[in-house]
Amino acid sequence: MNGGEQSGLLPVEAALQRLLTLAEAAPIGDNQRVGLADADGRVLAEPLIAGLDLPPWANSAMDGYALCLADWAGEPLTVSQRIQAGSAPPPLQPGSCARIFTGAPLPAGADTVEMQENVVVEADGRVRFSEPLRLGQNVRQQGQETRVGDHLLPAGTRLGPIELGLAASLGIAELSVRRRLRVAVLSTGDELVEPGLPLGPGQIYNSNRRLLIAWLRRLGCAVVDGGILADDLQLTRAALAALSDVDLILSTGGVSVGEADFLGVALREEGELALWKLAIKPGKPLTCGQFRGVPVIGLPGNPASTLVTFGLLARPYLLRRMGVQRVEPLGFALPAGFTWNKPGKRREYLRARLQNGRVVLHPNQSSGVLRSAAWAEGLAEVLEGTTLAEGDSLRFIPLSEILG
Ligand code: AMP
Ligand code: MG
Repeated sequence: MNGGEQSGLLPVEAALQRLLTLAEAAPIGDNQRVGLADADGRVLAEPLIAGLDLPPWANSAMDGYALCLADWAGEPLTVSQRIQAGSAPPPLQPGSCARIFTGAPLPAGADTVEMQENVVVEADGRVRFSEPLRLGQNVRQQGQETRVGDHLLPAGTRLGPIELGLAASLGIAELSVRRRLRVAVLSTGDELVEPGLPLGPGQIYNSNRRLLIAWLRRLGCAVVDGGILADDLQLTRAALAALSDVDLILSTGGVSVGEADFLGVALREEGELALWKLAIKPGKPLTCGQFRGVPVIGLPGNPASTLVTFGLLARPYLLRRMGVQRVEPLGFALPAGFTWNKPGKRREYLRARLQNGRVVLHPNQSSGVLRSAAWAEGLAEVLEGTTLAEGDSLRFIPLSEILG
């Protein structure tokens, strides 16, 4: 990986651009076919093209009566047949109408449907139409939604409930998707202990492992759980060497200034290392490199920093490697419900919520604190070098935009 030491701080966009460039240079090439039941969250490898008109035949949009408008002179009509959804009706008898239900095929010869609320059924069973009729009303024409050959989804689309429903509507049972990206998660730090074990002196529980593994799975990655990695060069080398078959090694911790950075040493010896100092808060230090050819991203260890740098930088990188085009979260311009008096050198992503249409902040924005992230509905972006008064517009990124 390239990158190089930075003298100043690297702006978020520049870091993202570098990561996306790296991702595009290492795309996941192999595809697999999966049934729709297993395709949720996967990335489409080929465009979805309609092999069917939708609707496949003209049908009624209402419960009502079908007739041929040109043949009708305004007189009450006898009902010559009854057509339920799922049936294959014979042609309409001239001079009659057909009782028809929503989703049922229009019989040949009929072109217009009147809803049942607008007709009067007379004593002799004939049907009188009380409102003016318009040719083709309440008819869903063959192919009005989709025509054979239409490109409905481009390659690189992330499949979710709507896309799966769309594929199903076309009768498609299997899709070609990218294979899962294999991502190894390493939590570095002598102080870390896994939940369920007693906490010794000086120890804390490992938050990042669970945070990242759950998140990566939501992104459709196959996770290789590297557990906790002690702050030790030999162990770091051995752990990295054991991960030769993954697409990315994602580690947290050990990138703070002043700490012995064993990950960095190992990458320098047997790969490449770039240490980025990002203009981002929480966050700032980020390792980007490779070990024996396997890409490595090292995120800062404080959990809120992990959250922000993974969500805004590593997540788009991973999605782009899967061939996804739109990798950045949607953000919305909303009025600040707070003031910001101190222009910063780094771009801030503040744990925030919406209250009466305004963005309000959690009082604890410390980079170690996940509690405020659990409270938050989104991240409020305060650009470097700016101040805000109440009511000023800022970008709000819903957490739901980055968590999946
Ligand atoms: P480091 O970058 O290793 O200096 O870590 C920065 C801060 O994040 C320290 O307070 C660490 O104890 C904390 N930290 C690092 N990794 C984790 C983790 N996996 N879970 C919770 N806190 C962590
Ligand atoms: Mg550490």
